[in-house]
Amino acid sequence: MLPHRKTPETVMARLVMKFGGTSVATVERIRNVARHVEREVKAGHDVAVVVSAMAGKTNELVGWVKEASPLYDAAEYDVVVASGEQVTSGLLALVLKDMGIPARSWQGWQIPIRTSDAHGSARIDGVDGDGLAAGFARGEVAVVSGFQGVHAPSGRIATLGRGGSDTSAVAIAAAIGAERCDIYTDVDGVYTTDPRIVTKAKRLDRVAFEEMLEMASLGAKVLQVRSVELAMVHKVRTYVRSSFDDPASPQAGTLICDEEEIVEQQIVTGIAYSKDEAQITLRRVADKPGVAAAIFGPLADANINVDMIIQVVSDDTTTTDITFTVPTADFDRARTILERARDQISYASLQGATDVVKVSAIGIGMRSHAGVAAKAFRALADKGINIRAITTSEIKFSVLIDAAYTELAVRTLHSLYGLDKA
Ligand code: ASP
Ligand code: MG
Repeated sequence: MLPHRKTPETVMARLVMKFGGTSVATVERIRNVARHVEREVKAGHDVAVVVSAMAGKTNELVGWVKEASPLYDAAEYDVVVASGEQVTSGLLALVLKDMGIPARSWQGWQIPIRTSDAHGSARIDGVDGDGLAAGFARGEVAVVSGFQGVHAPSGRIATLGRGGSDTSAVAIAAAIGAERCDIYTDVDGVYTTDPRIVTKAKRLDRVAFEEMLEMASLGAKVLQVRSVELAMVHKVRTYVRSSFDDPASPQAGTLICDEEEIVEQQIVTGIAYSKDEAQITLRRVADKPGVAAAIFGPLADANINVDMIIQVVSDDTTTTDITFTVPTADFDRARTILERARDQISYASLQGATDVVKVSAIGIGMRSHAGVAAKAFRALADKGINIRAITTSEIKFSVLIDAAYTELAVRTLHSLYGLDKA
């Protein structure tokens, strides 16, 4: 018999496996991660494992930076916080080797993963997959530090923003042409809504890239928003699954994929909510051309993202009210900017509210169904929930309501669209 040779058909697919902080929180859990890796290696995959820092480590490092220098230099911040991932990658490589699985660790600068120079929230500009491929050819598992890369012109370490290991994983999957990017986390997938609020929430088998992007942007915390953007652009099939399953019998998770791969389409796929919204209302603003520009121009200049905007049609034709939302973190800054610009804008008073929540329904089925949002407004009104602001787009709508009604609103919409477990 001829010796077994790898022909193109039998070359096994490449796989990226990413493990978050809780999955690598202790050396014991890292051993469990290694068993998941071992399973995929034995199945014949070339594996790149992307790891986060051990749970709580990044927060601790950020704390030290702030203690050392309250107005810290962002490039040195990156030097400090990138170290958490370096530790995990080394530990996992050690454990794998002890199990007899060839492995080596890779830091972002070694691959390299090239980034912009926006230290603290750098964007990935490119990933060189050649070094990793050479490692696969030697039969090695590549253990990659997530969250970090290098700004090549300056040679300095850069990090990708909190939660950035997800983005590292997807970028590597795209660069090496991986068949799938498996994101192992402490939940077993993406749910129709937050199961802590609605016990009837169910795990979705599949979610379209566009839907996941909206869900992540609108408050679902399971993946970093940028990782979903990247997965969508490069069509990286991304599978969210639990690292706490028995490595010998892994359970199903949620596949984030092209909408063509989704057979059973629902009108609404999920309900998300975000408490990270603050409302600002300007009363009796002069109703004349240029006022919106006078309000939103200075906010844009200060990098404050305005989300929902409502302008009331005035009845006296001289003044109007304008309501809009900004991220809670920017609320104080926005307020100060608007108070300073009061003369140019000309308004009677400024009112702010931070005890608000944005509840959103997302689903690609909305493209082809009319009246989806109207049904929700009725249902919320029946529960006595007042809507402060509304925005809609092709595949989602959002309402801004009092935070006290968060659970009631989420539950109401979840059952309205038939998402409650059978
Ligand atoms: N360790 C980093 C963080 O905590 C990156 C990540 O976990 O994705 O934000
Ligand atoms: Mg994360």
